[in-house]
Amino acid sequence: MRGDTVRVDVLGVGFDNLTLSEAAERGMELLHAGGTHYVVTPNPEIVEVCRENPAARAAVNGAALVLPDGIGVIKGAAMLGTPLKERVPGVEFAAGLLEKMAGEGMSLYLLGAKPGVAETAAERLRERYPGLRIAGFHDGYFQEDGPIVENIRQSGADTVFVCLGAPKQELWMAKNGLATGARLLCGLGGSIDVFAGTVKRAPKFWCDHGLEWFYRLCSNPRRLGRMMKLPVFLVHVRRAGRRK
Ligand code: UDP
Repeated sequence: MRGDTVRVDVLGVGFDNLTLSEAAERGMELLHAGGTHYVVTPNPEIVEVCRENPAARAAVNGAALVLPDGIGVIKGAAMLGTPLKERVPGVEFAAGLLEKMAGEGMSLYLLGAKPGVAETAAERLRERYPGLRIAGFHDGYFQEDGPIVENIRQSGADTVFVCLGAPKQELWMAKNGLATGARLLCGLGGSIDVFAGTVKRAPKFWCDHGLEWFYRLCSNPRRLGRMMKLPVFLVHVRRAGRRK
């Protein structure tokens, strides 16, 4: 099921124009809709990957919900004259969804991150969201999809958080989502690390001022190469804006 609103195009990726709470609401609708759906949360870096990789672009645009993770996407959409309501960070969407899932006693499978991390995240989520059932977990460093898909299917999970990094997680969900038997899969990058507490989110001040990217860069300078995609993205947006 695709969103019923027109998507906002940013360099070939169509974003759903929703607030954070509307997005969580929409996630629940998808959980109740029947069938299997997946959610993606692209940032400028992923939009740039999609510009060069048609398979990644198809996987991202094929999602039932495409949420703008990152201030860069919000700025880009505004520069193109088609503003989006607000930034919807994947990890915050996940928290909003879990709150609602817990209220209905739904179950979650965590797929991704280094060995041991998903297990810690599962324990913490169990404490934080009483009512939420943890159906299972697996680290993100596996060789074959088949046994993982089977493990998820047997777990009977309603939702799977797929945290393998982009575009791996988007391609994985597009290819394997249906076979897992889950009703909703969400591609959420480093969120399992955040839930486990192995990676800290930026303090509120930085997030509120659109500087979460800078905080993440300072805490992990190895991200510099990846982050150089942000200025490239803005140059591409400016060019696209002129052509409009
Ligand atoms: N990861 C994984 N399998 C892989 C590659 C990456 O499970 O083959 C995990 C990695 O351990 C990390 C997450 O994927 O937990 C990606 O985090 P990153 O910070 O790159 O994602 P972002 O939030 O920036 O999209």
